[in-house]
Amino acid sequence: MSEKILITPKSYYKIRDKMMPLPGDYQPIFNDTGKTFTEKQMLNLAEDVVGIIIGVDPISRKVIENASKLKAISKYGVGMDNIDLEAARNKNIKLDNTPGTNNVSVAELALGLIFAAARNIPQAVTSVKEGEWKRIKGTELTDKTLGLMGCGKIGREVVKRAAGIFKSIQVYDPYFDDNDFIKKYKLLMLDKDRLLQEADFVSLHLPLNKETENFISRKELSLMKGDAVLVNTSRGGLIDEAELYKALKNNELGAAACDVFSEEPPGKHQLLELDNFLLTPHMGANTKEAVEKMAAAATRNLIAMLEDNSAGGVKN
Ligand code: NAD
Repeated sequence: MSEKILITPKSYYKIRDKMMPLPGDYQPIFNDTGKTFTEKQMLNLAEDVVGIIIGVDPISRKVIENASKLKAISKYGVGMDNIDLEAARNKNIKLDNTPGTNNVSVAELALGLIFAAARNIPQAVTSVKEGEWKRIKGTELTDKTLGLMGCGKIGREVVKRAAGIFKSIQVYDPYFDDNDFIKKYKLLMLDKDRLLQEADFVSLHLPLNKETENFISRKELSLMKGDAVLVNTSRGGLIDEAELYKALKNNELGAAACDVFSEEPPGKHQLLELDNFLLTPHMGANTKEAVEKMAAAATRNLIAMLEDNSAGGVKN
């Protein structure tokens, strides 16, 4: 009898015909709903599968404990924060992810959001389509400072591109010590508070975990320049959204441009009513190039784990 593999990413479903067929008797179950699965759906769908290629859908302890045949989870992407890793390890479920497949795509979106916020591009396009012809004043990036929180795989790709745009680049990342890279791009390594005080644009490129939850809250927002722009392509939980709302509403911060939110989709959130808040629908990795690379790597990893060729292991 064939064994089932659950493949949750919506973008994988769209390119499924381009992918190599799964070997052996594995039978794929795709997500053709166009939506991220809920925990309730995951409980049912994962119940009798041996492997999962997972997007951002929740794999909670409950889902894991209910999935009696599950042997391996292969992340389609990098961030493992939607998976209860401890529960998976307790059940000896193998884990793997696909670093290096979407760094460029996310970095390019971060820069896109910076440009969009600096020149009010989304607001201008909307107003023209509504019949207006009013020019909204923006700001140049050339004489500005970019501050990066986190300089891992995505942060580095931002640096490489931003070096030709900004006057200077500051970095806060206590675990980053690649001196050649620091020298090459003339990075200014600062502590968190000083970077927040000095940067004109602050872009977040760190993982969401217990240490980084609400990484940007009341105190951090109050340190930032009044016209600064905050960009988040990492994870929603990094920013305290209630405090962000207050800061933007009271013009204590210039703008925020995000690709991620604590609840996705956000529903009728008050932040969405603000003109100086931009939100894209978690599409950082959603390019033709990254999707194909992620799908191939996640499939390869899952099959290797199931066929016992690989012990798995989450990579950074
Ligand atoms: P990475 O692990 O390569 O880099 C993260 C960096 O953050 C590391 O250099 C680490 O030292 C640093 N860091 C960790 N804790 C820190 C702290 N407390 N303060 C400062 N720095 C800290 O990760 P990455 O691949 O660059 O991914 C970055 C983020 O982007 C992750 O949150 C990931 O989930 C997210 N992401 C989003 C999308 C999207 O579609 N928007 C796609 C892929 C990844």
